[in-house]
Amino acid sequence: MRPAAHAEPFPGLDAALKELRCSLEGIVDSSSLARALHSSDASNYRVTPEIVIMPRHRDDAITAVTVAQNHGIPITARGGGTSCARNAIGPGMIIDFSRFMSRIISIDPASRSAVVEPGVILSDLQKAAAPYGMRFGPDPSTATRCTIGGMIGNNACGPHGLSYGRTADNVRSMTWLTGTGEIITAGAGPEALDAVPGLRNFVSENMAVLRTDFGRFGRQISG
Ligand SMILES: Cc1cc2nc3c(=O)[nH]c(=O)nc-3n(C[C@H](O)[C@H](O)[C@H](O)COP(=O)(O)OP(=O)(O)OC[C@H]3O[C@@H](n4cnc5c(N)ncnc54)[C@H](O)[C@@H]3O)c2cc1C
Repeated sequence: MRPAAHAEPFPGLDAALKELRCSLEGIVDSSSLARALHSSDASNYRVTPEIVIMPRHRDDAITAVTVAQNHGIPITARGGGTSCARNAIGPGMIIDFSRFMSRIISIDPASRSAVVEPGVILSDLQKAAAPYGMRFGPDPSTATRCTIGGMIGNNACGPHGLSYGRTADNVRSMTWLTGTGEIITAGAGPEALDAVPGLRNFVSENMAVLRTDFGRFGRQISG
């Protein structure tokens, strides 16, 4: 039993843990060790989560998000945890994609593209792409640890970002799971405006701010 000072902040936590343990193939860990290991990233902050999930595949991730939503538990996704601004830590559930969801699905030299899971480490992708004369453009200096999912979250750059662009400039299409459990696939083109519910309206309602305030400096992100 935890001391009162660390009393359970999420009333649905025990029920959520029970459901997760029954339904996930991946790891569901609420041990002090797992919580401590995921309580920091490369920032100065410490936030201890209640549950650490390591999904084995996409269905595990969907289940974890659904259970978290049903029980009012906030979620933070995590790759290598190399962010410097508290991006990869949070109080409820950490979903760590780096352990199992790190497969390179395909590399296609003809279209000069690769299909990967979010937990792929950048340097693993670079090694796999090199025989085809290909590379992923942006290269944070954490390349041997950082994941493609985390790079997308941070719109990571690195020195070669100057010539190849930021991560967003190098992602052709993405399938993602929202915090409310929707699965969306969208490319980089204007069709994304209709693929993401509400985005077209949001853009037209805020066109003035988007035009004048965004892109004033090279990298405008929130993690
Ligand atoms: C020494 C050092 C040097 C660095 N150099 C650079 C640099 O040169 N350029 C640069 O851009 N950055 C740099 N960084 C910052 C960081 O390493 C990069 O931004 C890196 O790409 C983050 O990847 P990660 O896998 O560690 O992501 P994390 O830190 O785990 O996560 C980053 C963000 O993405 C979200 N996220 C992670 N995975 C997913 C997912 N599957 N689905 C949805 N959201 C997800 C997280 O919630 C978080 O908001 C540096 C950091 C350090 C400590």
